[in-house]
Amino acid sequence: MPLHETEAIVLQSYPLGEADRLVSFLSRSMGRVRGVAAGARRPKSRFGSTLERMSYVRIWFFERETRELVRINQCELIESFVDVFKDYAAGVALAVMAEVTEAVLPDREAGDPSFRLLLLSAQAIKRHMEIDLPLAYFALWTVRLGGWLGSFERCARCNKQLAGIPAYASRAVSGVFCGNCRGTGMKAISPDALNAGVKMLADRLDKIEASNIPKTALRELSRYSLDLIEHQIERKLVSREMLETAV
Ligand SMILES: [Zn+2]
Repeated sequence: MPLHETEAIVLQSYPLGEADRLVSFLSRSMGRVRGVAAGARRPKSRFGSTLERMSYVRIWFFERETRELVRINQCELIESFVDVFKDYAAGVALAVMAEVTEAVLPDREAGDPSFRLLLLSAQAIKRHMEIDLPLAYFALWTVRLGGWLGSFERCARCNKQLAGIPAYASRAVSGVFCGNCRGTGMKAISPDALNAGVKMLADRLDKIEASNIPKTALRELSRYSLDLIEHQIERKLVSREMLETAV
């Protein structure tokens, strides 16, 4: 039973048995992992509050050859996000990010870009208590890292430049289309949203000024990206419904 040590972000945590917790976390070295923290619900548990949702932690765990669940041995808090959940909108945004990460990433496949994306987006929400830009950035890049995003600059069918002309997209097809190539069921996507998307795919989150992008464009991009994610995972995101009332 080798012991692993890695940085991780707690995605979900559920009560298990009488005193344990089942924890799903995104680790830097091994990707998404599920494990059991024995005794974590006891009042004086050594895990303390380290296993709260979205906690950024250093975690030690044992892999068990025959079982899917690892045994979590120790956990130290690096950064807490508990206070962010006290703000309804910010808490809902973090919940969406945790649920999306849990849903799209395969078991135990290391992906440092996904780890950094989740951490930086959550930290941006915590720092500014503003959700539109970090959430749109997170959702768009999740779609990009998943390989489900087409170009925002050229029509996916005829390659025509989309800058300044009406553009259309749907959740079922990757890519954006010009008016001539528009398929049935495709909805218009605004020039502001396309521009914002191009900017976000080219820059780091902390380099982008939220004030330079209309809120409507950010929300449109979030909706578009979350639609693509729901299409890929073939189900609705539970936390997304709360998002509609939070913004
Ligand atoms: Zn076209």
